[in-house]
Amino acid sequence: MQFDRADSLDAADPLAGLRSLFVEPAARTENAPSDSVVAYLDGNSLGRPLLSTARVLSSFVDDSWGTRLIRGWDEEWMSLPTVIGDELAGAALGAAAGQTLIGDSTTVLLYKAIRAAVAARPGRTEIVVDSDNFPTDRYLVEGIAAECALSVRWVETSRTSGLTEALLAPVLGPQTAVVVASQVAYRSGHLADVASLTRLAHDAGALVVWDLCHSVGSVPILLDDWQVDIAVGCTYKYLNGGPGSPAFLYVRSELQPELQQPIWGWLGHAAPFDMGPGYTPAPGIRSFQSGTPPVIGMLAMRDMIALIAQVGIDRIRAKSVALTEFTIALADDWLEPLGVQVASPRHSAERGSHVTLDHPRFREVVASLWKDGVIPDFRAPEGLRVGLSPLTTSFREVAEGLQAVRSELEKLRP
Ligand SMILES: *Cc1c(COP(=O)(O)O)cnc(C)c1O
Repeated sequence: MQFDRADSLDAADPLAGLRSLFVEPAARTENAPSDSVVAYLDGNSLGRPLLSTARVLSSFVDDSWGTRLIRGWDEEWMSLPTVIGDELAGAALGAAAGQTLIGDSTTVLLYKAIRAAVAARPGRTEIVVDSDNFPTDRYLVEGIAAECALSVRWVETSRTSGLTEALLAPVLGPQTAVVVASQVAYRSGHLADVASLTRLAHDAGALVVWDLCHSVGSVPILLDDWQVDIAVGCTYKYLNGGPGSPAFLYVRSELQPELQQPIWGWLGHAAPFDMGPGYTPAPGIRSFQSGTPPVIGMLAMRDMIALIAQVGIDRIRAKSVALTEFTIALADDWLEPLGVQVASPRHSAERGSHVTLDHPRFREVVASLWKDGVIPDFRAPEGLRVGLSPLTTSFREVAEGLQAVRSELEKLRP
């Protein structure tokens, strides 16, 4: 039985004990039945909070903000974007210090990164992006192309796969300024080969901006070894930084002097407190900063980054692979007979930490599941995404969740 299998996988899971470090959702009560959570399968959209986060936030109010007041900026807060950036770089990005900054939202950092990259390739006329990349990436590319009189070169990727060398190679050439790509495709979960795609783009003389939102904290990343130029990612998914926590930006150190980002704010200035005339960018990664850092938003991710460093990304990846394999096995066993198709790569080496299942009735199925505390998400046109957070999702939870999908689909059968 699949539930027995789930229980034995949980019993053998070396990371199972870490679940107790996270906030347990409130139990179902008579008054608030909708509060209860049977299976949380959406950690790839919003990770759960660590228990320590409540202490970190309240002590910040009392001891730091409330006590140090304006002195806190000089004593600590001003340095947090690069201090936490370096912590993240070491724990999850495979990057040496001095190349990573915590800053604005992913969307804003992607804008700054792509604009800077385009400006560093004058005379080249195309930005390459794939048709199934995340909406914000596609819209930004369209907007920047319009703003800078460039054209968008679309790579058609299928909803069940993602960007590969075979798809990218034919569109690259002396006209390519920048390639914008996601390491893990938000819909299919396809895991791109960052090193080889980056090499291809470099062979054509182009720069690459990688979006790591759906990969950071769940799959191994080696930005320095892979010679990545620029990468951006969010911190509220597998980094559990909380709703709207600020994103990070990595810029390879050799490129930093060459790249100029377009939002010239006082805190990207070499000497912000001189408040002088004219903009002189700060040396290094700090030139990518624009305004006052979102200090409160940066606090929650820090303990998660430390936990990832302590556990090690390879063990996290092993659990993630086991979770996605189990999800696919259950889908084949329970849901395929009801017309469900796996819309994610079947080889784990080509898959990130979520699995998308397709069925024409999934929009209404997901709405019913949420009422019963089973929380995957829906992605048009017909995808139910099962997000597997290696440090918080149990195999039992996956079985409960997919069992609920099965019973909803059975109810809909004529
Ligand atoms: C979640 C996600 C984003 C989110 O961007 P925001 O600016 O934080 O809203 C961007 N890109 C990808 C690939 C994502 O998965």
